[in-house]
Amino acid sequence: MDKKSEELKKIRDEVLNLKESPLYEYRNENNYFPVIGEGSHDAKIMFVGEAPGQNEAKTARPFCGAAGKILDELLASISLERKSVYVTNLVKDRPQDNRDPEPNEINLYGPYLKRQIEIIQPKVIATLGRHSMKYIFENYGLSSVLASVSKIHGSAFTGKTSYGDITVVALYHPAAALYNGTLRAVMKEDFKVLKNHM
Ligand code: URA
Repeated sequence: MDKKSEELKKIRDEVLNLKESPLYEYRNENNYFPVIGEGSHDAKIMFVGEAPGQNEAKTARPFCGAAGKILDELLASISLERKSVYVTNLVKDRPQDNRDPEPNEINLYGPYLKRQIEIIQPKVIATLGRHSMKYIFENYGLSSVLASVSKIHGSAFTGKTSYGDITVVALYHPAAALYNGTLRAVMKEDFKVLKNHM
């Protein structure tokens, strides 16, 4: 196994055994899995969602339900193959009944996301929804430009990582576009920005 795969597997094993997580019991009671992430370990672009939904927790695959279908459509609209990118979430276990992740959960799972970023070293991070936007902006030198998704969606910012500057783009969460055609069109425009920054 190559080094990146080994390090990512270590993250998987640690999250599997994360007994201190408030979501650990809920996971086991429901025969759910943590969702670590999926895609190319050499991806230039990483998508960061919020937390797994039910389909994801049942299959251990990120964005494999209704929101995933929208994500797939948006990727196809800029001719990006899903297997060429890396898709993950801020929180790796499903919160009860799809509630928002709580600050203590974000604090607990966030460092795993940071490690994934260090391993994969994407040039572009696209956040999906406000929770991952806030976390990424606050942790990669962009606190001063943080605003609501409705204000900064589709703009490219320069974030600072240990391996150099990266481009950070805040996007709406694909689930928001599920029943909103207008928003879907906005997201399609926003996705074009990704193509220009790779
Ligand atoms: N919503 C998310 O934020 N992540 C998923 O993996 C699926 C739905």
